[in-house]
Amino acid sequence: MRLWQFHGGVHLDGHKELSSQVPIAQANLPKFLIFPLLQHIGEPTEPIVHVGDKVLKGQIVAHCFGSDCSLMISAPIHASSSGTVVAIELRPVPHPSQLTAICIVIETDGQDVWTELNAIPDYTSLSPAAVREHIAHAGIVGLGGAGFPSHVKLRPQDIDTLVINGAECEPYITCDDRLMQECPQDILEGAQILRHTLGGTKRCIIAVEDNKPSAFQALSQVAQSTSVEVVKVPTLYPTGGERQLIKVLTGKEVGRAQFPASIGVVVHNVETTRAVFRAVTQGRPLVSRVVTVTGNGVDCPQNLEVLLGTPMREVLAQCGRKSDIEQLIMGGGMMGYALPRDDLPMIKTTNCLIASGPGELRVPPPLLPCIRCNACAQVCPIHLLPQQLYWHCKAKDFKRAQAYHLFDCIDCGCCAYVCPSHIPLVSYYRYAKAEIRASEREHKKAEQAQQRHEFRLFRVEREKKERAERHKQRAKGVDSG
Ligand code: SF4
Ligand code: SF4
Repeated sequence: MRLWQFHGGVHLDGHKELSSQVPIAQANLPKFLIFPLLQHIGEPTEPIVHVGDKVLKGQIVAHCFGSDCSLMISAPIHASSSGTVVAIELRPVPHPSQLTAICIVIETDGQDVWTELNAIPDYTSLSPAAVREHIAHAGIVGLGGAGFPSHVKLRPQDIDTLVINGAECEPYITCDDRLMQECPQDILEGAQILRHTLGGTKRCIIAVEDNKPSAFQALSQVAQSTSVEVVKVPTLYPTGGERQLIKVLTGKEVGRAQFPASIGVVVHNVETTRAVFRAVTQGRPLVSRVVTVTGNGVDCPQNLEVLLGTPMREVLAQCGRKSDIEQLIMGGGMMGYALPRDDLPMIKTTNCLIASGPGELRVPPPLLPCIRCNACAQVCPIHLLPQQLYWHCKAKDFKRAQAYHLFDCIDCGCCAYVCPSHIPLVSYYRYAKAEIRASEREHKKAEQAQQRHEFRLFRVEREKKERAERHKQRAKGVDSG
């Protein structure tokens, strides 16, 4: 199969051998599970349980606001084990902003009893819309780290190619690699379900980076008598980015204001695909995921199937936590972010936890002035001008930064990686994006307050008029009487 190349990208040291050699193990059942109400891109959920309620594993504890989840950019949250709701309160959550958010806290009962599951014995007998609705109610979101509700990418549209993303290009992360080696049949069947849900795509490609030969072989074996193509793609960061992978596989570019679906392509991650398989064939909602726990700060780096809501410190302890962890990072070596504490819950988007040992992660050398060498632009996979973005973000000229397509930046970090002046470019972009979003939120709030005020004035005025009219009518009645 012919492959193409995307612009830029960098070759990285993968650090994958730390965790990729051992099979996926089951994480322990913790005493408490913590569920933030927002674990995906889109609208948050609202609790439908109360403190003191008993819940079963797989039971919905937080639902999408207002209406049916399948119609919204949102995903319900399910209890990942049985127990009692002991709190619904503000707790610290894993997020770069380090803010707190409302969480449902469940004390587990140790029984791990499932609620009644609603499996679909033959999904081909159902319409794509019915299968999509089932996937939406299972709470499945993009498990590659993005967290976009999966059913939204399955809405009726003219799709000819479904891509299952097994590129996993970020350093340290190996959960997809292990899953492809250990559960290739589940992934293949999940891909067929997604294909059906999209109305039957002409092509279905499972893409695996060429540094994962065992995963490639396992998938090729199960797919050999099917029309699913398993394709090896060159190892180059960030091949696993949706747009970059589409370019490599199809030669097509997804334009600036476009979604992949607008050029007839939909991409789902391999673990998301396995979650779809489980939801449809077993009726099992998203209550766990595979997480890579790695770094020199643990004795036994490995991949664990972790119940969502499990506090990170429990998983670290299971992997032989050392006393000299320097940093705890959620995500991979390039796009991950440092966590301020270890009692945060594992959420749907937690694909990797790096506990770095002393000197493991590069301490950036002293920052030097930009020498306008243009190396950053040469590696940017989005064709941006990172240097210009840097100047505008640094000067807090956010309008200009946006004019230079700040929000197209995928935070891949290629620019900062090659910068000879060691400028933490991505930190500037993340800061600017956060500031812009905060100011937009403030603006929206002010607008809503203004609308409420205007409506109140209108209502007072209307009531005044109605009162006056009533007086007039009454006075008329008296006169005529
Ligand atoms: S790579 Fe660094 S020094 Fe070179 S132009 Fe970009 S920001 Fe400036
Ligand atoms: S972080 Fe943004 S600007 Fe830098 S290379 Fe990646 S996409 Fe381009």
